[in-house]
Amino acid sequence: MELERTDYCGSLREKDIGRAVTVMGWVQHKRDMGGVIFIDLRDREGTLQVVFDQKNIPAAEFERAESLRIESVIAVSGQIELRGEDTLNPRLETGTIELRAQRMEVLSQADTLPFSLDDGASVREELRLRYRFLDLRRPAMIRNLRFRHQTLKVIREYLDRRGFVEVETPMLTKSTPEGARDYLVPSRLHPGAFYALPQSPQIFKQLLMVGGVDRYYQVARCFRDEDLRADRQPEFTQVDMELSFVKQEHILNELEGLFKHVFDKMLGIRFGEPFLRLTWRQAMDTYGSDKPDLRFGLPIVDLTELLRGCSFEVFRKALDAGGVVRAINAKGCAGFTRGEIEELTKKAISYGAKGMAWIAVRENGEIYSILTKYLSEKQLSGLLSAMDAKAGDFILFCADSLSTVRRTLGGLRLDLAELLGLRKKGEYSFLIVTDFPQFEYSAEEGRWIAMHHPFTMPYPEDLPYLLTDPGRVRAQAYDFILNGVELGSGSLRIYDRKVQQRMFEALGFSKEEAEERFGFMMGAFRYGTPPHGGFAFGLDRLVMLMAGADSLRDIIAFPKARDASCPMTGAPGFVDEAQLAELNLTGAAGGGTDAGGKRRSARNAPRIDVDNVADLALLSLDESEKEAIRAELEAIVAFADELAGLDTEGVPVTAHVAPIENVLRADERVPSYDRDTLLQNAPSKEGGYLYVPKVVEG
Ligand code: ASP
Repeated sequence: MELERTDYCGSLREKDIGRAVTVMGWVQHKRDMGGVIFIDLRDREGTLQVVFDQKNIPAAEFERAESLRIESVIAVSGQIELRGEDTLNPRLETGTIELRAQRMEVLSQADTLPFSLDDGASVREELRLRYRFLDLRRPAMIRNLRFRHQTLKVIREYLDRRGFVEVETPMLTKSTPEGARDYLVPSRLHPGAFYALPQSPQIFKQLLMVGGVDRYYQVARCFRDEDLRADRQPEFTQVDMELSFVKQEHILNELEGLFKHVFDKMLGIRFGEPFLRLTWRQAMDTYGSDKPDLRFGLPIVDLTELLRGCSFEVFRKALDAGGVVRAINAKGCAGFTRGEIEELTKKAISYGAKGMAWIAVRENGEIYSILTKYLSEKQLSGLLSAMDAKAGDFILFCADSLSTVRRTLGGLRLDLAELLGLRKKGEYSFLIVTDFPQFEYSAEEGRWIAMHHPFTMPYPEDLPYLLTDPGRVRAQAYDFILNGVELGSGSLRIYDRKVQQRMFEALGFSKEEAEERFGFMMGAFRYGTPPHGGFAFGLDRLVMLMAGADSLRDIIAFPKARDASCPMTGAPGFVDEAQLAELNLTGAAGGGTDAGGKRRSARNAPRIDVDNVADLALLSLDESEKEAIRAELEAIVAFADELAGLDTEGVPVTAHVAPIENVLRADERVPSYDRDTLLQNAPSKEGGYLYVPKVVEG
């Protein structure tokens, strides 16, 4: 590279007219007008029009400009000039100027790209992630990364001013108690033993308080092996904090100050009022969710007492069974069409309700509903006034158990808001939810589990019920909610060993188990522990909401795909037998292909344990039968490997035999797909049949 850069393409302006500059960047567009070539040259600051005029540039360099492929990297020097009238582009910040090239150096000629950067977000995401380094060239992506950088800088500055010390905690550690599955790392020096990647720095930050750090924060990478939902990533970044000698109120104020500061600095949005606060119960009862979106109202109103004794069968049954009746007034929605009402009813059913009763108050005041004939005059007028029903309103009901009603109306509230366009981008509504229940009952595990984590301090007045009535114990735990998204959670911590031991007991940990998992922490608490508490919020989520991005993947440079794989590197990948042996893991892994579609090597192929298979199948086999079955089973595994190794690029997803929503229901006949759809992905077909290798005969 001979030329030296003087400026960014995107930073030049009219004030630079007349200057001799050298810029470097990627060829975004090229228009060859014969004798004159226009190139839009892009770097991270923006694009600049560069004009190659045969008259001004050595012939060899002009020729090279002619043969440039899109996204090649070049250096150009020349003079900044005013654009001609006909090429002005008011949409570009550099739209009134251009660079008249005098020298050009090709720094890197690009191959044809796998997709056009102009098509942007419309390109299949899998492809974008596979070529993430190209995707990042899109201005929107660079903007997001820089926005994230700025946000983090503002957060760091603020926390520094507030006396927080940034401390790093280990990545190779022991299991942490956030309730998700761990990512494990095998230890070479301790055969058979594993580190766990931290689900959060929870234990370490509490130990930092024991260590006297007093105010800690960390921009911490956390790892949770969960099935991914749209707004989850297996590794994500938390801004993690812990404070000593504080009450809940201090922590909430500290956080409110931080979020207000960030919004002011980053978006110029000032929240004059204190953030709204609700207890968990209030949030659940009024909005049917512990993370309600409060950009809009649509509160849930309880009608249980008012409707007790009404003759409407559905309500009566729910109330007799100890349930509740609640409703939402969708203001001004009396004109909902049949289709819209049906759609809402379907949603209600998907949330667990049995149906959805409703009342439309027509514009002329007429009450239109099947309910009216089952309600007394008094009940109807009581209901209308409780719901603040006016002409033009639409009231929708749910009668069921408390939890079903909360879930249904909470869900419908969001659906209504979506339908009515009430969830506006660019509008922000914070909420603090406090007083979470300490425990929730897990029917699956048959025990109470911690709603936050086991170090969370209950309210002192609820401590006596820890073992006798866990359901009524409230935690000194809190969440910050933004637009219906949980930004983060925190709590005051138990700093008394005896209380902590009772907590473990309430959670069903045996003494040995508690000792094994958290003994070192309990041990530390013996030597002088300050009262402390903390909080952690998801940086990715905060930035996503503030940047108006639709997905976490848009604000993470190298995110994982939905199946937790990385399409670019092919991680997770298989490793060499030798590496496995070194880690004492040989024979532990099964067959298949890695995330990059690479086939497990023959050396890695599992040895089939025919004795075990025979045991499981209750077969007694002689040696020759065993050999025959081993050969058959190996053929099946090899076939499965082959299937997994096939190039599925662009192949439509295999159809399910039965619609998948039916899978968990009782046996119910459903129309099946036609044969051609079912067999469309079969590797080979014969006369409408799918060909499979011979399996086990006999
Ligand atoms: N460790 C908790 C979490 O990751 C936050 C906290 O309690 O500070 O959610």
